[in-house]
Amino acid sequence: MFEVAGRTDFWNIGYPLLGAIVYLIAPISIAFIAYGLYRRIQFWRLGAEYDELGSHGERVREFLRTGAFGFGGHGKFHPRRERYASIMHFAIFWGFAVLLLATTIAAIEFNFEEYLGVNFPTAYFRLQTSFIWDVFGGVLALIGIAMAYWRRYVVKPDRINSFADDSVILAYLLLLVITGFALEGLRIGATELNPNSDLYAPTDALWSPVGWIFAKLFSAMGISPDAMTSLHKALWWSHAAIFAVGLAYAAISFSKLSHIIVSSLNIYLRPLRPRGALKPMGDFETLESFGASDLKDLTWQQMLSYDACTNCGRCQDNCPAWASGKPLSPRKVIQDMRGYMEQRAPEVFGAHALGEPAPSPSTSMVSEAIGEEVLWSCTTCAACVEACPVGISHIDSIVDMRRYLMLEQASAPDTAMSALQSMEQRGHPWSGTALTRESWLEDMDDVPTIDVNPNPDVLFWVGCSGALVERGVSVTRAMASVLKKANVNFAVLASQETCTGDPARRMGNEYLFQILAGQNIETVNGYGIKTILTTCPHCFNTMRNEYSQVAESLATDWNVEVLHYTEFVDRLISEGRLKMSDKESVTQRSANGGGGCGSVTYHDSCYLGRHNDIYDEPRNIANAVAGIELSEMSQCRSRGFCCGAGGGRMWMEESGTRVNHIRTDHFLETDAETVAVSCPFCLQMFEEGIAAKGQQDNKRARDLIELVDEAS
Ligand code: SF4
Ligand code: SF4
Repeated sequence: MFEVAGRTDFWNIGYPLLGAIVYLIAPISIAFIAYGLYRRIQFWRLGAEYDELGSHGERVREFLRTGAFGFGGHGKFHPRRERYASIMHFAIFWGFAVLLLATTIAAIEFNFEEYLGVNFPTAYFRLQTSFIWDVFGGVLALIGIAMAYWRRYVVKPDRINSFADDSVILAYLLLLVITGFALEGLRIGATELNPNSDLYAPTDALWSPVGWIFAKLFSAMGISPDAMTSLHKALWWSHAAIFAVGLAYAAISFSKLSHIIVSSLNIYLRPLRPRGALKPMGDFETLESFGASDLKDLTWQQMLSYDACTNCGRCQDNCPAWASGKPLSPRKVIQDMRGYMEQRAPEVFGAHALGEPAPSPSTSMVSEAIGEEVLWSCTTCAACVEACPVGISHIDSIVDMRRYLMLEQASAPDTAMSALQSMEQRGHPWSGTALTRESWLEDMDDVPTIDVNPNPDVLFWVGCSGALVERGVSVTRAMASVLKKANVNFAVLASQETCTGDPARRMGNEYLFQILAGQNIETVNGYGIKTILTTCPHCFNTMRNEYSQVAESLATDWNVEVLHYTEFVDRLISEGRLKMSDKESVTQRSANGGGGCGSVTYHDSCYLGRHNDIYDEPRNIANAVAGIELSEMSQCRSRGFCCGAGGGRMWMEESGTRVNHIRTDHFLETDAETVAVSCPFCLQMFEEGIAAKGQQDNKRARDLIELVDEAS
């Protein structure tokens, strides 16, 4: 065997007898982890089937796209604004990954030499690899741990909850690194820096700079090389024991450390349907109960996702309901669901062991574990989903429980109930409106209804707000006017249109949603429509992302391209089909509140932006209007703050601070005179907010399509 320079593996450990024991630590630790995971899998198996597993090929691709990036730099999981947390996680994760690699390679090198009589290739570079393990392993991990301590106990951001488990884990990681460095220092002090040792090699010692510093410190403390040898042996076994006990603790308590495994699993298994599509509820004919009131009503993937939560608080930080003082914190919902699962699962197992059916929960999931007011506070804006680093879908669980309240308990806020009643009886949620679906057509020339033009290229879907709300009507007229200017062959359904069912679905009334969606699918398919254009992002989202679910359950097709006008008009402008004036008259705001806009900022609707990734098109349109130079609010694009009207909240009373008033403040913080929107709900919310702030003479809200109409 070729002799290589460098350190002796298992120096001072007494191989083969004692050294061999170390190899037991790995399988024991793996067994503990496997047992901890097995217990948890038993919990998850109490959930319902997960019908959305689909193709693993797609999942692997998606995981590599997001996961690989995450492990590479936690880049996807920690956006730029989370730079501190990003560096901290990177340092801890990669520091310990390198240390684990170092331990594994040391074991391989040893066994190659001992049993095969050959050197593993890395053995020729033992000194150089020592440097890598020391600096890119131990030092990196130590930096990450120090950053975590600083953040958790000195900076203490509001969103960080410190539980005992967090302190135990940080202390455990710190102890592992410090005892590792101390071990290295004792070995170096007893051998490479000891002139009486056969292994004396002071220059080699410098390849482990931190170990060298520790060795010098021990020496300065008057510890002799012999004492260092004895201490080394004792500490070596302590270090190994700390490692094994820590892993056992993590596995049994299913502590935060388990997120390394479960969070990755959740990222792999999370629903891959479009974000704007709610979880399918299944066939009403075969369902035994509606919505979720217990573990059996949630999928096993949802239960797994509760275990994946790292309690980082980013969802809560971005939640408009939480920011406006509502009782909803998405973090708390997920943590409380996890708590419910931990309490409820043993009750069910106990009954199963006796061959009995599961008893009623000692604490109800809906109402007690998660309060009803919590559930009704959600705007389904997806800020939490966007922010979550481990791919949890909070909205699915919230809507599942709303479905239970609505369909099993007939329990919902009164105002929501009357909107639903109106949808059921009149096909729209605006009870009390004096307008009809055809009122807006009265003084418009040449707007073809489907009866007049049964073969349009594009069906302009006007929507309930566009037809039945005064302010929405002017947006609808502007849209029709733009379509005419661009010579688009279009038609409207007029009285044949009914509500898309979006508010019903988000309020939990899946039954009503499916009826309304079914009617619309039949109407649209009946005319052979291939393209639908909407002004409302909610109509757009539900028809683009959810109607295929309904069509499937009706055993029919839904092969319709659904576009929001921002996409369509952007295309018209870039293809030269819609000519924009080069006069800057639109930016000259008229004093009487008529046309014009002055300086402009843009508000991203949640259902266009976060739910459908449409950020650039509205900005392209705004910038195509001569004279407009868009400014941005502090929270924009994927961080855009909700207007407060989604998820059926438009029809619910709001107590305390109103979400739209917070968003209006964001607008008022800019120098812009106009906030441009591309959603009828946002428009109403901003107009109310501006009036409530007494700013109606200086500031205004306008839909982008109104500006395009004036500028084309
Ligand atoms: S969807 Fe929006 S309102 Fe609902 S919990 Fe998430 S962040 Fe909060
Ligand atoms: S749900 Fe996601 S974002 Fe919220 S605390 Fe848990 S891991 Fe963090």
